[in-house]
Amino acid sequence: MTYPTQPKASHFINGKYVEDTDGAVIDVIYPASGEKIAQVHSATPAVIEFALSSARQAQGAWAAMTGTERGRILRRAADIMRERNHDLSVLETYDTGKPYQETSVVDATSGADALEYFGGMAATLTGEHIQLGEDWVYTRREPLGVCVGIGAWNYPTQIASWKGAPALACGNTMVFKPSETTPLCALKVAEILHEAGAPAGVYNVIQGLGDVGAALVTDDRVDKVSLTGSVPTGRKVYAAAAAGIKHVTMELGGKSPMIVFDDADVENAVSGAILGNFYSSGQVCSNGTRVFVQKGIKEAFLTRLAERLKDAVIGDPQDPATSFGPMVSERQLGIVEGYIAKGKEEGARLVYGGARLPQDGFYIEPCVFADVTDDMTIAREEIFGPVMAVLDFDDEDEVMARANATEFGLAAGVFTRDLTRAHRVAAGFQAGTCYINTYNDAPVEAPFGGSKQSGVGRENSKAAIAHYSQLKSVYVRMGDVEAPF
Ligand code: NDP
Repeated sequence: MTYPTQPKASHFINGKYVEDTDGAVIDVIYPASGEKIAQVHSATPAVIEFALSSARQAQGAWAAMTGTERGRILRRAADIMRERNHDLSVLETYDTGKPYQETSVVDATSGADALEYFGGMAATLTGEHIQLGEDWVYTRREPLGVCVGIGAWNYPTQIASWKGAPALACGNTMVFKPSETTPLCALKVAEILHEAGAPAGVYNVIQGLGDVGAALVTDDRVDKVSLTGSVPTGRKVYAAAAAGIKHVTMELGGKSPMIVFDDADVENAVSGAILGNFYSSGQVCSNGTRVFVQKGIKEAFLTRLAERLKDAVIGDPQDPATSFGPMVSERQLGIVEGYIAKGKEEGARLVYGGARLPQDGFYIEPCVFADVTDDMTIAREEIFGPVMAVLDFDDEDEVMARANATEFGLAAGVFTRDLTRAHRVAAGFQAGTCYINTYNDAPVEAPFGGSKQSGVGRENSKAAIAHYSQLKSVYVRMGDVEAPF
């Protein structure tokens, strides 16, 4: 079978596809079949040099354009992305294995939202005037320069757009390195941006493993690094960026709590738990994988959950009827199987699924453990797969202490009909992104990001502008200058 997935070349630099076959081969594997569907080459030093020098060279002229002009290009790119949503979604499904049912509504669409939102904002980015008697200060909001974006493999189109859109809106240029597991979609983002009118060198994509990312992060020409990845990688990249005093955004992993109180609407709580554990086969950073259920509602919750899970349609992810696809890779599947074995070994009660499916591709059933305790490995470590841990609790103080007893702080959710408790609990969560009676919504208008070990900085919303620009203060004296001698 042939797939429409082989890109024209491995990299997109200075407005064009670029190939250098001296780079190590990276096979692109379709998670639903295990077949090789494309091949790209890792960036050689020459490719890295070309990308960085192109981004550096393009930056001055890009920043000199008015915000209105830059914004118009981003909004045109958003339109193109929406027009091509079907083809981009099919490609995202080949790249990641996520069902078309998902990719057609959350990947290119969310990328387009970011391009439209920050495109609309580009013309509004201003400094302020601060009057000081007759003197005054004005501030200029200026770009940082060249930004490096490094992506994880779960949302390749979205990550490339969420980083690119605010960076470009502020007058920066970008070199983006996708995960080597999903190298295809970011190339399309670059292609679309340039088709929409972005000058050559403004948005570049190069392929490679961690070593290519590391070469980018340590280069003197780079002013900012935005990483979406795991906490261990975040530590390394943050340290490397710190050596050059570079700006950073770190969107890292989590082990987020979801709390279901006795008075919750069971159906909505089950929906939230399904969204927060099994969407994208559980490969979502903000997932609420520690589901604390108050004892009075536990049996009703588990019964409805098991009934609803039987409705999951597991199969060909390109079929719009499929609602649950494979894991992204054999490796990730192995990691998930290891955690499931550990859960059983440590005494958690398997109440649903968890078996690898006897077919091609990297399929595993959604998995639910009940009677999980805080000390179990599956309650402490990020699994990044479809494994839900259900933990019991008695009262609010107890559950809040347990929910916050983690090094992570990406997200947290609460299901309750008690209005004041909902807001009290949200205020008490040590997490950057919280939900009341819902889970995992991520609109571009709202800040997204983590606290504690889950990250630094925020993506999306007006808050992202502060992370892709810097303020210059200009003091203006209207009278004479007094000096001591
Ligand atoms: P990794 O941390 O393994 O990799 C992230 C990216 O960093 C990849 O492109 C990787 O390259 C690159 N990289 C690895 N080492 C280095 C290095 N030393 N210097 C520079 N770059 C490097 O994450 P995964 O791709 O496995 O993604 C899963 C993780 O991402 C999970 O922990 C998840 O929670 C997190 N995530 C966080 C999100 C958020 O917004 N907070 C959203 C999505 C995922 P390569 O893989 O090619 O080697």
